[in-house]
Amino acid sequence: MSLLRRIDLREADVASSAADYRAAVPRADFDVEAAVPAVHAICEEVRTGGLEAIRSLGERFDGVRVDDIRVAPEALATALEQLDPDVRAALEESIRRLRATCAAELEQDAVTDLGAGARVTHRKVPVGRVGLYVPGGLAPLVSSVLMNVVPAQTAGVESIALASPPQKDFGGAVHPTILAACALLGVDEVYAVGGAQAIAMFAYGVGPCAKVDLVTGPGNIYVVTAKRILKGQVGIDSEAGPTEIAILADETADPAYVAADLISQAEHDPLAAAVLVTTSETLADDVDAELDKQVSATKHVDRIRTSLSGQQSGIVFVRDLEQGLAVVDAYAAEHLEIHTADAASYAARVRNAGAIFVGPYAPVSLGDYCAGSNHVLPTGGCACHSSGLSVRAFTKSVHVVEYSRDGLGEVADHVVNLAEAEDLPGHGAAVKVRFE
Ligand code: NAD
Repeated sequence: MSLLRRIDLREADVASSAADYRAAVPRADFDVEAAVPAVHAICEEVRTGGLEAIRSLGERFDGVRVDDIRVAPEALATALEQLDPDVRAALEESIRRLRATCAAELEQDAVTDLGAGARVTHRKVPVGRVGLYVPGGLAPLVSSVLMNVVPAQTAGVESIALASPPQKDFGGAVHPTILAACALLGVDEVYAVGGAQAIAMFAYGVGPCAKVDLVTGPGNIYVVTAKRILKGQVGIDSEAGPTEIAILADETADPAYVAADLISQAEHDPLAAAVLVTTSETLADDVDAELDKQVSATKHVDRIRTSLSGQQSGIVFVRDLEQGLAVVDAYAAEHLEIHTADAASYAARVRNAGAIFVGPYAPVSLGDYCAGSNHVLPTGGCACHSSGLSVRAFTKSVHVVEYSRDGLGEVADHVVNLAEAEDLPGHGAAVKVRFE
């Protein structure tokens, strides 16, 4: 029996809107809205109960109580010494590629001269202190250390704190590979705190962790819901929650690749979404057959089956690739792969996706680890208004206004007239007083 349910949009009205398609494509039952009450209670517990609340929440959700939540410097150094050399080499290559793309993303100040003695500068400033989240519930996502830290360092952030869940199997310590990656990048403020309580710790400043200005990083439904609840109290990058992959494919796609890529993302979380949008029934049947073969050979079979057979996953049939483009744009997936003839030309027309992977040799797992792109990406349809993590997320901009007496004189009458039009004469007077 097919794991993926099928949704047929071939007969949909040609005038279907993005909202129609958004309603038609698969979505999870348990979403951020549904998680708000439980996560709100966790955030309140941290706000009012402080460090002791964090310890008891860790005990409840991670099965281990941690007294010293801040990781000791020796533990970081030891983890790096003991890191497998092959993993170290892979991390170093990933860091090298990320640093290259991040350097290219750095923006210069924009200086505009608007006449003699009239200058406006759009100055780029790094955020002062950031809290980076690295998932560690179902898998220790060491790659998320790099994806958070490298752009923050490139932006020039001075104070970096990082949190990841305490691991019961390691006596409540953060996973050693995550610690090693922190040490490799020179990050020394690390906390063994996971889930919503870590985001609340960053937002409020609890125990040894001073309040941060911005929280970034991916996480499960609890982490992303905490980011939504605490936004405003603290800045956030985007809602980077349970992974999604959408694949737009025609009859030229290789079903073995398509199935492997759907599985690779389903492996993250039972709530992960895997959606194939295709013009081809033959491809859909072949992908189903490949899934049958490949899923049973994977390590995390149960998690993958739950994700693929869930409400949030499925195969969507479209009458042509034009309709396919409209559907994937409306869905706004975190990851979009394009497996069609002339994939690059379709990719160029996509507006809404966290990241786009073009053609058969750019699987999402390349982007997860080593492409040089960032893997912290907006989910739940947020890709229509938010971007993946980048240097820009760690940078603010400030307008700096420099006018001389002559420069101000040039526009003084306009300021006074606009002030009168708004019935705010004090505004006009503040200019006039300088010329009396
Ligand atoms: P996680 O670190 O995000 O979450 C684990 C924490 O969740 C635990 O420490 C625990 O405190 C908390 N938790 C567990 N059950 C809970 C419950 N019932 N109530 C309250 N809190 C609870 O690790 P994870 O679970 O492995 O999830 C990682 C997630 O990150 C996956 O969903 C994956 O798809 C996602 N991800 C997203 C992106 C992205 O950019 N969008 C990138 C990588 C990973």
